[in-house]
Amino acid sequence: MIAVEDEVKIVSGLKIDIIIAYVQRYKFGHEIDFVPPITGIHLAAITPKKHLVRVFHQQLESLDFNSNADIIAISFFSGFAEMAYKLAGIFRAKGKMVVAGGPHVTFCQEEALIHFDSIVTGEAENVWPQLLDDVIDGKPERIYNGTPCDMLSLPTPRYDLLPSAFFIKKVIQATRGCPFLCSFCTVPSLNPGFRFRPLEHVIRDASYDNFRFWWQKKVVWFWDDNLTISRPYIKVLLKKMIPLKKWWLTQASMDIANDPELLELMKESGCIGVFLGIESFGKESLRDAHKGQNKAENYRNAINEIHKMGIAVMAGFIAGFDHDSYEDISSMAEKLMEIGVDVPFLSIMTPFNGTPIYSKLSSEGRIISDRGWNYYNGYNVAFKPAKLSEKDLLLAHRMLWKKAFSFKYSFKRIFRSAITLRPGAFLLSFFMNSFYCYKKLRKNHPADACNL
Ligand code: SF4
Repeated sequence: MIAVEDEVKIVSGLKIDIIIAYVQRYKFGHEIDFVPPITGIHLAAITPKKHLVRVFHQQLESLDFNSNADIIAISFFSGFAEMAYKLAGIFRAKGKMVVAGGPHVTFCQEEALIHFDSIVTGEAENVWPQLLDDVIDGKPERIYNGTPCDMLSLPTPRYDLLPSAFFIKKVIQATRGCPFLCSFCTVPSLNPGFRFRPLEHVIRDASYDNFRFWWQKKVVWFWDDNLTISRPYIKVLLKKMIPLKKWWLTQASMDIANDPELLELMKESGCIGVFLGIESFGKESLRDAHKGQNKAENYRNAINEIHKMGIAVMAGFIAGFDHDSYEDISSMAEKLMEIGVDVPFLSIMTPFNGTPIYSKLSSEGRIISDRGWNYYNGYNVAFKPAKLSEKDLLLAHRMLWKKAFSFKYSFKRIFRSAITLRPGAFLLSFFMNSFYCYKKLRKNHPADACNL
């Protein structure tokens, strides 16, 4: 029987299915994941209450192709664009209105408009309710240009709509934006400026505990571009986090290592891991990345300072800068061990639309035009490298990946974490290294786009 409240919603509101599109990035699938993207559950939360919303993460659950939804809303980044277009075609053939948003749609509007009835560019908060009202009135626009929202009244994400296969469920956001201008990053053009939410709202979300398992209640993953940029803001936030007794993780810049007061507060408030965009060991490559703030000679000391607080260091590395040779790339496996990285994330340079690297490679005629969007997933080559052939860049990355997640190196990192890190940070290192090493042992390395 339909509850009276639902009956009212059905009469006055819409049924909306939000889909987070996905294409396998490992040969044998991706049966569990640690942390969900915040996009779908945030969009569900900012949807006015009169509408009925469901959220599907294609990575982990089946989609409902017989859905009775009025609107199918698809969010994706470039690497999953081909899948998103395919889904749009299927749902439109069934007579559904299909809308889309996300970074790819923002930077490839003409292409997206071929596949979707309406698109939302930029941030959705200021235009999503209007789009839904226009659909009810029968006159939706083709393009809704979202503007940066003030972040003053964002609701708690709809964690209740997440599938159980996400290990960590509580992703929250305190800030948006980053003052740096890394050549490969869409954040500066997508999330301009640096904005933050009221502290009491962040604490409200961090305190949300309606989960099944203790670790889902315990762990908070900040889905921020660069959480620690405003030191006065982050320091007050962390003081307010201390009584919650949570374990938390985030992305940050390496300069946090030079701020003992911040590191101490991070420790006291329960930080178990930070993701640092180290990117490269090469001076010229760091210059290419517009990442002058990173100095290879300081990596070891910076990681040491963070380890002194018992916090795990996750670090991103990119293969394929113009100065990278095969040896530079494959030798990163040893170097990242030497500097003490606990969990490495290894990707290939990807020229996303909206980034300086895209403009440069495009103007030099180096974007490989017949490579589809499946090549834009961080594990494949979509441009002509300067010093290597495309094939050698791919091979160098695969060699790096295999060495870095070999049993020997994975075990070493776990062992080192056991003796240097606090319990939550050790568990993080243990699970993530075991996860990637298991993939390596199953020969489940990143998939080549042509084999997907
Ligand atoms: S520091 Fe991180 S978020 Fe900021 S521009 Fe660079 S890659 Fe993007």
